[in-house]
Amino acid sequence: MKLHEYQSKRIFAKYGVPIPNGKVAATSTEAKKIAEDIGGRVVIKSQVLVGGRGKAGGIKLAKNATEAEEIATQILSMEIKGLPVRKVLIDKAVSINKEIYLGITNDRMARKPVLMASSEGGIEIEEVARTSPEKIIKVHIDPLLGLRDYQTRDLASGINLPQKHWRSFAKITHGLWQAYKNSDATLAEINPLVITDEGELIAVDGKMVLDDNSLFRHPDLAEMRDLDIEAAEEIEARKYGLSYIKLDGNIGCLVNGAGLAMTTMDVIKLYGGEPANFLDIGGGAGATKVAAALRIILSEPNIKAVLINIFGGITRVDEVAKGILQSLDEVKPKVPIVARLVGTNAKEGRKILTGANMITAETLTDAAHKAVDAAIGGAK
Ligand code: GDP
Ligand code: MN
Repeated sequence: MKLHEYQSKRIFAKYGVPIPNGKVAATSTEAKKIAEDIGGRVVIKSQVLVGGRGKAGGIKLAKNATEAEEIATQILSMEIKGLPVRKVLIDKAVSINKEIYLGITNDRMARKPVLMASSEGGIEIEEVARTSPEKIIKVHIDPLLGLRDYQTRDLASGINLPQKHWRSFAKITHGLWQAYKNSDATLAEINPLVITDEGELIAVDGKMVLDDNSLFRHPDLAEMRDLDIEAAEEIEARKYGLSYIKLDGNIGCLVNGAGLAMTTMDVIKLYGGEPANFLDIGGGAGATKVAAALRIILSEPNIKAVLINIFGGITRVDEVAKGILQSLDEVKPKVPIVARLVGTNAKEGRKILTGANMITAETLTDAAHKAVDAAIGGAK
């Protein structure tokens, strides 16, 4: 679950990271009021869950409250990378002397969190990693020992931060680490961490991604979920207890089991196709759940073919077949559907589906081949 900038910065602030004085607004009138309260120059920042808002025109400086109102009106009517702006953050403007990058994420290979800093802040870190990877300094944090003081010093010296800022840098880094650890985050990032003209360090931007699997023990964080900005399909899927992640391809996948779902995606790619989603209907899914899953997949406009890969165990193939029939009745798909159904009650399941307009397959290889062919055929 991604948090908005204003939410992330509030969490950082709780752990002692300095952030600009600011508040979030949903209307330009509110924005004006906030700007008046803050006084002086403010920055108006669109709250959408994508990077590069600055470049897209979603971040603007205002000299005073009247200008803040005008700019807020404009930004609140924008769409950034397809996402409508519903909220803006009004922050006291800071005078930027230098922009630094500071972030923590999980390094799966090292099986540890990795703390990263760069003197090249303000631009996306992926960009820095591509063009000048040597400018990203990394230290791994032992989860049992926590972040050690020498590590923050290594980082500060690695990015050539003047010594007078080290104490403040260490405090911010420790705060970020605590925020990351205590929130069960998979990403906590300050980009940029600004050195102001007055020589203060302050977090101007903030980004956090939380581990969905940990939200049960963070009800306060779970509540921050912004349903507005999530793909409608993902919300619908969560309602039915389906694990659904939207991807860029055009072959919809309906599979039981996360491992099988990943394998299915791999095999689709192996034959030159691109999966449109990851979808695990879970063990023991009944007809209603299957019908919901297929409805969600078919509601995607890019879909050119659907691959249903069910390995019946606890999940009964005949139940799945009933669900498929049920949703076919409702949605009348315009794309070819390839079904590979094996395992418990497969025979009964196939019987239920005779007459349904579907391409059948015996093996996963066969099914993936047929789905890729169907998708390419459909694209023509
Ligand atoms: P992003 O583009 O989505 O990463 O949004 P950021 O919050 O990182 O803002 C982008 C850029 O806008 C920053 O790197 C700064 O250069 C600039 N910016 C943001 N806030 C301020 C501010 O208070 N004062 C000034 N002068 N520039 C700002
Ligand atoms: Mn940023």
